[in-house]
Amino acid sequence: MRVAVIGCGYVGLISAVILTKEGHQVCAIDSSAHVVQKIRQGVPPFFEPNLKERLDEALDKGFGISETLPDEDFDVYMLTVGTPTVNGVQDLGQIKRALKLITNHLAPRENFAAIVIKSTVAPGTTNMLEKVVAEALPRGRFGMCMNPEFLREGNAVEDAELPDRIVLGSSSKQAIDLLQKMYQNSKCRKFIVSPATAEMVKYMNNALLASLISFSNEMSNIASTNLDIKFIDALGIVLSDKRWQCKDDGSSVPSVASYLKPGPGYGGSCFPKDVQALTSYAQEKGVSVPILEAIEKVNSEQAVKVLKPLVDKILAGEVLRVLVLGLSFKENTSDVRGSVSYPIIRHLLEVGADVRAHDPIAAEEFCKEYSFNSEIIIKDWRSGLQWSQAIVLVTPWSDYIELGETNFYKGFLLDPRSALLR
Ligand code: NAD
Repeated sequence: MRVAVIGCGYVGLISAVILTKEGHQVCAIDSSAHVVQKIRQGVPPFFEPNLKERLDEALDKGFGISETLPDEDFDVYMLTVGTPTVNGVQDLGQIKRALKLITNHLAPRENFAAIVIKSTVAPGTTNMLEKVVAEALPRGRFGMCMNPEFLREGNAVEDAELPDRIVLGSSSKQAIDLLQKMYQNSKCRKFIVSPATAEMVKYMNNALLASLISFSNEMSNIASTNLDIKFIDALGIVLSDKRWQCKDDGSSVPSVASYLKPGPGYGGSCFPKDVQALTSYAQEKGVSVPILEAIEKVNSEQAVKVLKPLVDKILAGEVLRVLVLGLSFKENTSDVRGSVSYPIIRHLLEVGADVRAHDPIAAEEFCKEYSFNSEIIIKDWRSGLQWSQAIVLVTPWSDYIELGETNFYKGFLLDPRSALLR
C-alpha cells in the first residue's frame, strides 16, 4: 500500500519505518528542513533504541522522506504531527496545516484515500475535522479514521513492531478496509469503534496511568510523615493482593480491573470510612491530599449523577412510580452500611417520585438503618413490574438477571453498573 506519513517525530518516523518494514511504500513528510535532512542521511533526529537500524533498513527499501507531498497517489495519509497544549488547551494548529496539505494533494486526484489521525486529540476532534475536509473534498473521496498510538518512548520501536492492540475509530467502511489491510501483519487484537471512542481510549489510557503515578506519590507523601513506614514494602504487599494477579485461565486482565467499571459509587463499611480517616490523618500531619479529597467528593456526588436520565423523566412528568432493586451495598451480602441505594432513594423522593424498593436479603435491615417505613418495600420484585414506570438496578443480585432479557420490562430501565450488559 502507498502510505504518506505527515510529521516525523517519535510517532511518525517510527510508524513510517515499521510500515516500510511491513512491505508498504511509505513517504514521510516533515515541515522541518533540518529533520528531513537528518532522516535522509540516515540519522534519526532523536534517540530511540534500534531506530537507527530500522531507518537504515527502510532507506535501503526505498522509504521516501520529503518536506512536501510528492506528486503521487496515496491510499493512506497518516497524521502524526504534534498536538501540544497551549495554556492547558489542545492546539490543533499543526493538525489543521497538515490536513490542508492533504486536501490540496487529494483534490486534483481521483483515488479514494483514508485520512488517519494518529496524533492524540480530544473526543469529537476527528468528526469535527471530517467536516473541515468535507468542505474541500467530496465525501466519497475520503474516509477519516482515528487510530491512536500507544508506543512508549524508550521502547517505541518494539511497541510499534509488536503493538498490543490496534484501535480504528471510523464510520467509513472503506477507510476501515484500507487500514485493516495496512495492519494485516499485526496479529494483535483490532478494535473497530467510533472516532470519539478511539479518541477517548487514548486519553483514558494516559489519564489512568497518570492517576496511578500521582496516587502512589500522594500515598508516599503520607507515609513519609512516619519514618517507621517502609513505603516500598507496603506497596509490594498491597500489590500481592490476588486481585492484581493475572489469572492462569487465559483471561489477560487481573480482576482489579473490575473496579474500573463505572457505577453509582462505592459504599460498604470500609471504603467510605477508611478514605475519610486517611484523609484526616494526612491533613493532621500537614500533608495535602487532593486525590483522596477528590475520591471522596466524586463518590459522594456519583449516586445522584447516574440518576440524571431518570430524574429528567420524573421532572418532565413522564415517570412517577420507580422501583429500586437492591439495597445492600453490594450483592451477596446483607450489609447495608454506606449503601448507595440510600442516596438514590432519597434523591428520587426529593424530586417527587413514588418509590418502592426490593432486596432479596437486606430489605428489613435497610429500613431499620435508614429509618424508612417498611411500606416502601415490596416482597416480590416481579409484582412491581406492572406497577412501576421505571426501575433502577442498584445492587445487581443474580435474582434480577432476567431484567436483561429483551422485552422483559416495558418501562424505563436504569442500570448504572451496566450489570445487564454481559
Ligand atoms: P513530535 O513533536 O516529536 O513530532 C511532530 C513532528 O511533526 C515534528 O517533527 C514537526 O516538525 C512535524 N510537523 C509539525 N507540523 C507539521 C506539518 N504541518 N507538516 C509536516 N510536519 C509537521 O511529536 P510526537 O511525540 O511524535 O507526537 C505526535 C503525536 O502523537 C502527538 O499528538 C502525541 O501526543 C502523540 N503521541 C506521542 C507519543 C510519544 O511517546 N511521543 C506516544 C503516543 C502518541
